[in-house]
Amino acid sequence: MTVSLWQQRSPTPERTDTAVAIIGAGISGLSAAIECEARNIPCVVLEAEYPASKASGRNAGYLMRGAAENYAAAIEDLGRDRARFLWRWTEDNLKALRALGLESVPSFEDRPSCLAATLDDEADQLERSARLLADDGFETQLLRPGAAAPDDPVWNSGHASVGLLNPHDATCSPAELVAFLQGKLERTRVITNAPVHAIEPDDKGVLIRARAAEVAADHALVCTNAYARHLLPELEGVVTPNRGQMLSFRPHDPALADLAYAYYINHGSEYIRPGRPGEIILGGARKSDEHAERTDTDAVTRTVQHTLEQWIRTLITDRYTVTARWAGIMGFTPDAVPIVKPTALDPRVWFCGGLTGHGMSMGHTTARHAVHAMLDSTPSPFGLNPDGTRPAAASPGAR
Ligand SMILES: Cc1cc2nc3c(=O)[nH]c(=O)nc-3n(C[C@H](O)[C@H](O)[C@H](O)COP(=O)(O)OP(=O)(O)OC[C@H]3O[C@@H](n4cnc5c(N)ncnc54)[C@H](O)[C@@H]3O)c2cc1C
Repeated sequence: MTVSLWQQRSPTPERTDTAVAIIGAGISGLSAAIECEARNIPCVVLEAEYPASKASGRNAGYLMRGAAENYAAAIEDLGRDRARFLWRWTEDNLKALRALGLESVPSFEDRPSCLAATLDDEADQLERSARLLADDGFETQLLRPGAAAPDDPVWNSGHASVGLLNPHDATCSPAELVAFLQGKLERTRVITNAPVHAIEPDDKGVLIRARAAEVAADHALVCTNAYARHLLPELEGVVTPNRGQMLSFRPHDPALADLAYAYYINHGSEYIRPGRPGEIILGGARKSDEHAERTDTDAVTRTVQHTLEQWIRTLITDRYTVTARWAGIMGFTPDAVPIVKPTALDPRVWFCGGLTGHGMSMGHTTARHAVHAMLDSTPSPFGLNPDGTRPAAASPGAR
């Protein structure tokens, strides 16, 4: 997203002075604002369009422990300490949202998530994950066909051989979650339709220039996720835009909409869960056209949507009506772990984002933590060195 010279030169930009300027009003930006209010620190949020206009209003609504991939795979990628830390972090994220009153959101449901193996290597990994999770003190359960959920079409399809349950997970409409977070703000102004085009630090503070608004602040927190590189070129190739596509559908037999769990299948590549009454939502299939999905263009494509529909026929039914199709843009990091760090632009300007596919599951606590790290100059477990490595200070357990 760019802003032209003519759009930048609004004749009367409104000027606001505050302590913290937050750029972006998704889950991250609004959660950061909640933390500022909790610390009695004045802040202003600047949003290019409207709250939840991007990934935070377009995702699948899983509030899950861990990540789409299983615990054993995460341990192989990140090491045991870091994987354990991330799993705890996501549990804490949901606990923090519950403590704010998330259960009052109309679409909120206590809905266990289930990683279901549709491939042999995945079944082995899920069995190993269950043992590792239990060893690390996490509550979990291994499900087998027959005993799992007798009337559930995913199990009846014959394609799931093992399921790994996260018993305390939940789901909700992401747009409602964002509205809920915004509703928690009592003193913070959220300026919408205000794309920021410049962040200008000087000896007095940081001036944020947006269309029709200027905010002078002591600190700035950039929460623009997939769009980070536009304001912070240092994040080009570090936080990369990746598209996720979804659809919702109504099985003609209403009983088939009755899924017991919010499923992740095929190593987390696809996700399928109950939606509005009588409907199911399904997303993923990026790997069917991976190169084309490395984009920040918000559009659905024939290839990915076709693959998603194949999954409907494989797992649920061939008699259905698609009720909506959409896309959203995620900000991926190389290790799928978020980034919280001061920027090369100025030590008073920080970035919080790169939540990969897990902003619902970890964005709230990550953004609240980012405010602490920025204002208290504490090391972050989500820090990143200039060469792309993670600093030693990014040790598990450090908050
Ligand atoms: C299809 C899909 C499914 C997903 N499913 C899940 C899921 O089930 N569970 C889960 O945990 N996560 C899921 N995710 C990931 C999750 O949606 C994101 O990680 C999360 O929403 C990121 O939140 P954010 O606030 O960091 O970024 P965003 O929601 O992208 O917010 C960034 C905001 O910054 C604004 N902005 C950008 N540039 C500027 C600028 N120059 N000036 C001012 N404002 C600007 C944008 O307009 C936007 O509102 C999914 C994502 C997608 C796309």
